[in-house]
Order: sequence, then C-alpha cells, then structure tokens
Amino acid sequence: MTLERTFSIIKPDATKRNLTGAINKVFEDNGLRIVAQRRIQMSEDQAKKFYEVHAERPFYGELVEFMTSEPVVVQVLEAENAVAKHREVMGATNPEEAADGTVRKLYALSIGENSVHGSDSLENANLEIAQFFKDEEIVG
Ligand code: UDP
Ligand code: MG
Repeated sequence: MTLERTFSIIKPDATKRNLTGAINKVFEDNGLRIVAQRRIQMSEDQAKKFYEVHAERPFYGELVEFMTSEPVVVQVLEAENAVAKHREVMGATNPEEAADGTVRKLYALSIGENSVHGSDSLENANLEIAQFFKDEEIVG
C-alpha cells in the first residue's frame, strides 16, 4: 500500500457556518491527514477553471457563483487510498442520498451547497493540487 494525496475544498456553505473544524475532525477521525491547508477567497477565474469539466452542465453558472460567494478552505489530504477514502467520508453528491456519518449527510444543505469537494481520481487529484498549492507548501 502506498500513501496517496487528494485535493479537498471546504465549500462556502460550510465556512460560513463555522464548520471548518467539525469537518476536519471527520476527516482526521477517518485517518485522513491534513498536510496542507489554506483559506482563500476563490476568484471567478479560479472557480471556472476548477469546474471546467462541468462547463456545459446547467448548474455551472450557479456553481461558480456559489464557490466565489464566501471564503473556502483548500486542502491536501494524505492517507492510504486517500482519493477513495475521502470520497467515502464525504458521501454522495446529493445529501439526501449520503450515508449516515458522512460529511454531506451531517452538514450539506442541498445538492449544490454540499459542504465539500473531493477529487474523483488520482490523476485529477494531482491536477487540482497543482492548481492551488506549490510542492513546498505540502508537508507530509
Ligand atoms: N452540483 C450541483 N447540481 C447538480 C450536481 C452537482 O449544483 O445537479 C454541484 C455540487 O456542488 C457538486 C459539484 O457541482 O459537488 C460538482 O459535481 P460532481 O458531479 O462532480 O459532484 P461531486 O464530485 O462534488 O460529488
Ligand atoms: Mg466531482
């Protein structure tokens, strides 16, 4: 088994409700180590680039508006199988379908305002980490 890194965002609905610590506790309790973390105000350009794969989806405009509406916390999480583990701990995109104990079940407000982002593959994790962090900011 090898250590993996994944990219995480604590989204505006969560930072606004002071849930950064509560969500980090769920991550840490599940063995995800926070090896880099920064609170930022995402720009429209950053959000558009980050969610480029969804550019043709009907919710893209709203999603970009949401992600730039309040500060977010961008993070790098490290664990064995970090990508899959983080997705599991986050729960389904739609909180109504999320399993008990997951971040989205506990805290998400809706399918859009769903508290957290997590990379969906190791390849995307590396690309997303590189959009927001320099190598030397990540201390494993
Ligand atoms: N989203 C939305 N409406 C939808 C589907 C997705 O607003 O019907 C938003 C939601 O914030 C989601 C993000 O777009 O987290 C990216 O969608 P994706 O399908 O990649 O879900 P995720 O990987 O975040 O579970
Ligand atoms: Mg996704």
